[in-house]
Amino acid sequence: MKPTFLTGCAGSAKGVPRLPAVERPAGRPHPEDFGPPRTQEGGLFGRWWTTLVDPLLSVLFPPRCVGCGDFETHLCDKCRDALESIGPEACPRCGEPGPRPLLGGRCSACLGTEVSYVRARSAFVHSGAAQRLVLELKSGGQKVLARTMAGLARPAFADLLASTPGVAETLVTWVPSHPAVLRRRGYNQAELLARELAAEPPGLATAGLLEKRVPTREQKALDKAARQSNLRGAFSLVRRAWAAREGQLRALVLVDDVLTTGATVEEVAKVLTEGTRLPVYVFTFSRAVSGREETHD
Ligand SMILES: [Zn+2]
Ligand SMILES: [Zn+2]
Repeated sequence: MKPTFLTGCAGSAKGVPRLPAVERPAGRPHPEDFGPPRTQEGGLFGRWWTTLVDPLLSVLFPPRCVGCGDFETHLCDKCRDALESIGPEACPRCGEPGPRPLLGGRCSACLGTEVSYVRARSAFVHSGAAQRLVLELKSGGQKVLARTMAGLARPAFADLLASTPGVAETLVTWVPSHPAVLRRRGYNQAELLARELAAEPPGLATAGLLEKRVPTREQKALDKAARQSNLRGAFSLVRRAWAAREGQLRALVLVDDVLTTGATVEEVAKVLTEGTRLPVYVFTFSRAVSGREETHD
């Protein structure tokens, strides 16, 4: 039986609410990244691998905390408790952490801004271990972190889903990567997160509705206007994927790993709403509150 550990904070100084249990901790690399699928259908070879090879891999690649580097765990209690949750009191429109005074459903951060999505919601402030998780998932090759991150973010994701017209008619999609990046990295971190998040509630639909045909420059060094023009025209709706769903849905949830200036999710949400005429809800694992780094490419 695989170990279960609590990802909840028992009560940090910031009063972060207790988080749910995650079935399997993440790590670098995790034995489940190797070998045959861990299913009952794995057969003799799968059982042999699980019995003999997994323990060996655990010794060769002992898990380390992404926050502090401690051995034997992928996210230690201390680093997990230090994650700064963004609660439901955040701005109901742009997701800026709150509580914040609202005017017509808008906070001071989004009062004068038009956006293409109905609501943006993030689970954690993009700092400390949350930032490390995003970085290791994206650039450290640790695909296995997606499951742990989804487990940590689930309460915030459920809060966003509750504001959609109905889970049965909601589809979860993600910010796409350019094919050259996909070839280099081997995966899209936003897709991994979206698929893990959509595992609950069961039956929540997922599909890649978008593609990124135009490569974009690194966003880091660009100001807001330059970021927007850098992204303009980069994304497009995959007509075939949308045609298979058209008429069955009432809302879309767009998932990304981190929201910084919001330029990426705004551009993608605009393409989605123009192409589908459906309301778009944005969900990210973390949100930069005072930082300026744009990490999706
Ligand atoms: Zn730690
Ligand atoms: Zn706002």
